[in-house]
Amino acid sequence: MQDFPIFDSRHAHHARLADLRSDTVTRPTEAMYACMREAPVGDDGLDGDPTVHALETAVAAMLGKDAGLYVPTCTMANLLAVLAHTQRHEQVLLESSAHMFTTERGGSLLAGLAYTPIEGKAGAMDLDRLEAAVRPGSHRIRVGLIAMETSHNNAGGAVLPLAHMQGAHQIARGAGVSVHIDGARLMNAAAALNLPAATLAQHAESVSLCLSKGLSAPVGAVLAASDAAIARARAYRKMLGGTQRQAGIMAAAGLEALRTMSKRLADDHAKARVLSTRLNALGAPLPFAAGEPQTNIVQVHVGGTGMSSHQWVKALAELGVLTRPWGEKTIRCVTHRHIDDADISHTVDAFAQVLEKQGQA
Ligand SMILES: *Cc1c(COP(=O)(O)O)cnc(C)c1O
Repeated sequence: MQDFPIFDSRHAHHARLADLRSDTVTRPTEAMYACMREAPVGDDGLDGDPTVHALETAVAAMLGKDAGLYVPTCTMANLLAVLAHTQRHEQVLLESSAHMFTTERGGSLLAGLAYTPIEGKAGAMDLDRLEAAVRPGSHRIRVGLIAMETSHNNAGGAVLPLAHMQGAHQIARGAGVSVHIDGARLMNAAAALNLPAATLAQHAESVSLCLSKGLSAPVGAVLAASDAAIARARAYRKMLGGTQRQAGIMAAAGLEALRTMSKRLADDHAKARVLSTRLNALGAPLPFAAGEPQTNIVQVHVGGTGMSSHQWVKALAELGVLTRPWGEKTIRCVTHRHIDDADISHTVDAFAQVLEKQGQA
């Protein structure tokens, strides 16, 4: 249940509103507000902000990298990683449904790079294809970077197996190419594998981490990498207008998020599993199935129900359950700190009602 007032009048009449659109809807905790109020701040564009510095240092240490760079969004962290590792007119290889490809590809135009999609399964690039694509050839554009994503948004929150990350890193090393991890939800992946985040991060030269998704900070992301890569990224951050002044106020919430929110992500994963199990147990009269989540994302396949994903999203919203269409035949539900057990029941009930009505139609 959301613990803040809903100002959107379209939904104001619902006694209960479960907002499963994304974990980005999470609000700062009271402790975050307290940290923000008390944070020592400076000018991060002049001589530095002590709280930003503390956050960058904490994330770098947690991920086993030399240095960190605080940025407004994970999109910027990923773009800065690309710019830091490549030269103009090189290729970036990435899984074909990776967020950096499907949603952030515009950045390649600014950077003068070719983003080349590599087919994969459950968010993991096919390593044979990767190996073939990274091989230099006289007719080829040089590969400057390989990017992986874990947990993988479009693959329903799938977590890359450690052996896959190691395999991709080995291929990259063999070709003298760096690896970047889009770790917008890296802490979810680490929680699912029950491993320290650094164990995942060791298979890349740079990692981005989003603080404003399940970790509940209001804004911000951190890029972690070598001192040299961060120095380059810092210069590009300035060019892109990503240098913020008393950013310590927001970084303070990020620090508190790291301290307290990472360890509760397993709760979100458990709720996602319950949601999936209960949806599949509805005994729907129509072809309808929820994916089995590894983390906090449940993809519900509604293609056989005679209603499009958009129609489903609308019907569920009318019952006080907010979701998002994920293509024409799938809707996405994301669990997070504001979704409790009663919200899961409320959501299952809403799905049951829509199915029942549709089954009679
Ligand atoms: C959300 C997301 C991003 C972008 O994060 P923003 O902070 O919204 O820019 C990047 N990669 C993945 C996998 C994401 O889910």
